[in-house]
Amino acid sequence: MPIFKTCTTCKETFIAESPFIKLCPICNAKSQTTPAERAQRKTRITPDRLMLDVRQADAAGKSYGRWRYEETERRRKEEEEERRKFEERQKRREQMKAAKDVSCLPEMKRAR
Ligand SMILES: [Zn+2]
Repeated sequence: MPIFKTCTTCKETFIAESPFIKLCPICNAKSQTTPAERAQRKTRITPDRLMLDVRQADAAGKSYGRWRYEETERRRKEEEEERRKFEERQKRREQMKAAKDVSCLPEMKRAR
């Protein structure tokens, strides 16, 4: 049987079909979300790359453009450093290999 209830959201009195209903028809309709709305809400909660970058720039107290530039520079330097280390390692390996070849040479001659 219908009973008078007070909506938990807008405090409006309404007639409910069951005592379990907590929201008036208006608030109930508002609380219902379509799958499209849910998807939209999800994308709002999950910030994209740009949003994250803007927030990082904000946290650093810099304009986005300035922060972006510094960040790109930093990454470029990191990559350069990585490449330099790699090349150095490669060179050292070649030198060791060359030294080994030289030291092996007399033994090979002796074996003959
Ligand atoms: Zn309501």
